[in-house]
Amino acid sequence: MKKVFFILTALLLIAQNALAIEELKDVGIAKYAVLETLRDDVPIRNKDSENALRITELYKNSILFADKQNKDYYRVELDDDKYAWVNKKYVEVQAIIPEKRFEDIEKITHKSKKDRYIFKINTNSRSAFEFKQNGNNLDFTLYDVHYDPDCVNFKNKDSNFKLSDKIENEFKINYSSNKPLFGYGISPYEEGYILTIKKPPKINPKKPLKNLIFTLDPGHGGDEVGACAFGLEEKTINLQIAKKLKKELKKSGAKVYMTRKKDKTTDLYSRCAFAKEKNSDILLSIHQNSLANKKDVEKKHGVGTYYYHNQSKPLAENILDSLVKATNFRNDNVNYASFVLTRTTFQPSVLIECGYLIKQDEAQKLKDKKFQKIIARAIVEGCKNYLKENFN
Ligand SMILES: [Zn+2]
Repeated sequence: MKKVFFILTALLLIAQNALAIEELKDVGIAKYAVLETLRDDVPIRNKDSENALRITELYKNSILFADKQNKDYYRVELDDDKYAWVNKKYVEVQAIIPEKRFEDIEKITHKSKKDRYIFKINTNSRSAFEFKQNGNNLDFTLYDVHYDPDCVNFKNKDSNFKLSDKIENEFKINYSSNKPLFGYGISPYEEGYILTIKKPPKINPKKPLKNLIFTLDPGHGGDEVGACAFGLEEKTINLQIAKKLKKELKKSGAKVYMTRKKDKTTDLYSRCAFAKEKNSDILLSIHQNSLANKKDVEKKHGVGTYYYHNQSKPLAENILDSLVKATNFRNDNVNYASFVLTRTTFQPSVLIECGYLIKQDEAQKLKDKKFQKIIARAIVEGCKNYLKENFN
């Protein structure tokens, strides 16, 4: 009878789309709402606010267990004492259950390819995961899975990796290296996840860009004009500079792809997916800056670079140094910023604001073909320095 009552209650609540986890807890029959994500790139955050830090971004059909809710958010339990928040608009309640269900990790395979390590993690769930970078180390955690090392029977022969060594309700892989990180991420497949960690590139110090794959992203395009000032449109200057940069990179032996070659509206997430699909080693997004209050431009202007993950910071620093020297623009710093184009992890990813289009003297230079070439060459120089410094 109790079971029937539980099912009826749960169905009723789902039908009304008015999930009351607390109420169910009070009568002692349920603890968790099973949530399924409705799209890719669903952020889960450390607090119940759009401005809170992203713990990770999940793929479509990921399963989460919520134990609390407020107006717009569900609180998701990742670990015994670790929680995350997901906006209700990204998920659907699938069931209400008394206990968490953990899918078994059935099999793990590991491959060491020329440029990357690959782990195939066979589990029937698509659960939450998290990456943490600590210096040259990377910690990967897959939550809500049952991992028994004896059952999986995976013999790890690679000293760069350490796997969970006891039965747990989560699975961890720790990667350590004597060189900085150069890209990582996970992708879903029918039976679980594929974890990819790029190997540090082997650099020829005389030709550090040789055979490296770049994706260049000219910001905005089509309907999205970007900054506008003095009759100039940002999207056009971004594309002009990106094209010159492509030419200069190819001269140095790199392979170059562009997220757009024309004046075309292009989705931000698809730009990152394109860079991943092309197995890019470096992703550079080209922009020209602006300010909400144009009066501030006398104080805040010049050239700046933006990164999100630590693995991208040395690249952002080297490109900035080189651009400040070449342009003589004010140093507008290496900035930490959460943009779609900087958040992608599959390669070091840097967004470059070459100058401020709303500052007249900078705008005059930014539209000049010769000056654009100076910018392109400086970015190439910055990339070379980054590679020589970190991967020699
Ligand atoms: Zn822009």
